This record gives sequence, C-alpha cells and structure tokens, in this order.
Amino acid sequence: MRKQVLFILSVDTEEEWDWAGPFPNESFSVQNVNEIPAFQLFCQELGIKPTYFVDYAVADNNAATDILKSLNHQQCEIGAHLHPWANPPFFNETTEFSSHVVNLPIEHVKLKLKALMTTISKNISVQAKSFRTGRWGINGNILKLLADENITVDSSIYPLYQNDFFSCENAPNQPYWPDHNNTNNIGKDKKILEIPVTVGFNRSNYKIAQWLHKLCEKRPFTWLRTNGLLWHSHLLRKLYLSPELCDADDMNTLIDIGLKKNQTVFHMYLHSSSLIENVTGLKIESNARENMCKRIKTVIDHINRKADVRFCTISQAKDNIGFPPARE
Ligand SMILES: [Zn+2]
Repeated sequence: MRKQVLFILSVDTEEEWDWAGPFPNESFSVQNVNEIPAFQLFCQELGIKPTYFVDYAVADNNAATDILKSLNHQQCEIGAHLHPWANPPFFNETTEFSSHVVNLPIEHVKLKLKALMTTISKNISVQAKSFRTGRWGINGNILKLLADENITVDSSIYPLYQNDFFSCENAPNQPYWPDHNNTNNIGKDKKILEIPVTVGFNRSNYKIAQWLHKLCEKRPFTWLRTNGLLWHSHLLRKLYLSPELCDADDMNTLIDIGLKKNQTVFHMYLHSSSLIENVTGLKIESNARENMCKRIKTVIDHINRKADVRFCTISQAKDNIGFPPARE
C-alpha cells in the first residue's frame, strides 16, 4: 500500500546579506522578494503550498509587502520570522551570542515579537499563526510568548543540529508537542505544535549515524577529513531537505530513508534570499531561482512516485496530522 504523507515547504523570507559578514541592522535590501511571485506560481503548478516566514525587514518594506499581499493566500501562508538584529526595538549591538533569539532577555524577545506581529498584521493584513526564530532554537519561555500572540505552530527546531548555545540533537524529526522545560522532548501542553524541518542521513539508523558524524568532527578525525571522505564515498552523508544545501539526488535519498522509517511529514526549507544570485554566500550560482526550482521539481516528482502526497502550509499540516505522530 502506498504511504500517505504530508509535504510542507517553508521559506525564511528576509533581507539579503552576506552570512559570513557582520550582522546588518540598517539599510536592508529585500530585492529577493521580487522573485517570490514567480516562485509561488512554480509551487502552485506542482501543488506545493509554501509558508513564508516573514521577518521585520521584509514586513516593514512597502514594495515587499505589496508583493506578499498580492499572492493567492489560499495557496500559501504568511508566518513570522524573528531576526533579532533586524527587528526593533534595538538594545545593544548584535553579537554572535545575541543573534540567537534563545540568548536574549525574554523581555527583549517579547517586545521584538510584538513589533514583528504588529507590522505583519498592519502591512500584510494577515495574522501570522506560525513562527520560526532566526538562526533556529527555541525554549519554553519563547513558546509561551508565541502562544500569547495566538501562534499555534513553531518551526524553530533544527534536528541533529547543535551549536555553542543550544542543541536540537535529540529532538524528534516529526511533529510533536514540545515540553516547555526541554523543547527537545515531547510534552503535554498542546498550545503550540512543533513541526521541525527534515534532516537526516543516508543511513536509516540516525542515532548511530549522528554519533559517527560527530566523532569525525573531533580530532584526529578532522585532520584526516574523515567526514569529507565519508561524504565522497557515500558511506555516510548528513542530508538536508533543502535545495540550498543538497542536490536533488541527496534529497531523494533522504525521502527514501524517511519513508522507510515511516515518517509521515516531510518539511523542505530554504531562504528567500537564495532566489537571487550571489547574495548570501550560501549558493553561488547564476539563475538561482530557476536552479532552485529545478531541484525542487525533481524531488516532488520523486516523492509523488513513492507516496500519496498531500501538500499543505504549515498550519494546514497541523490540522491534518493524525496523532500520535511518528517518533524518531
Ligand atoms: Zn532568517
């Protein structure tokens, strides 16, 4: 019997900037939003219903909000995305530490979130119901603020990822109700559903794969460039359902492994700034949008061959998920 799955595509809709450079806090360019109408039409032809997580720099720009307002809102969703360095009120200069929402005093998050939600509602005429932090990561205090703003879906968990400030390593990779004391755990509170993006390996035992992958990030394996060797030999690859980070073949492998593991929700993600050329330093290529779309179409053709796919925005996914969801 063919498996039934949900497919979500979320787009961090934000200013373009060189991710290797300092955090910008003025003169934001949001030229990339001009690419969204064509991208949206491409998605509609495939049945995809994108969710655009819009940040303050975009929500505060008239030309950008005119574009977002003109989209067919039956076929997409406007969510909220918080970049602390681009979202008033401003307190101190943004550092690596304070660029992560989870590191800010909760009062600052509250005021920034309020400004973001008000601006989205005023300039795009929608009430955002879904949210993602800039640079990922979430905690119980922020979840409470989201609930106060009537947000019902969060997507700030980045499975198998950790940095100096937080870890999502042990978080489920399928939708779950997060425990407010430890958002990597399943809890009882049902105000906000967590819908993580899809990340995995080309091996089905993710726990062992993650252990091995992390081991190879440590000396002496880094000196031997072991992860690079494992990648090139296809022995072990960490895979992302993102056309910015993986080619179509790798994303298809991730889908095949996910289906084998009985995952029922596949969540692809990208940044709107990747729809134009050479601005983020992430994907340096000409015809950025066309190439991105080509990779997405190959993946959609693949998943359509393998399963019965229901395309939905992230809030629609929340309403369509049968609980309890699959657990990694
Ligand atoms: Zn962002």
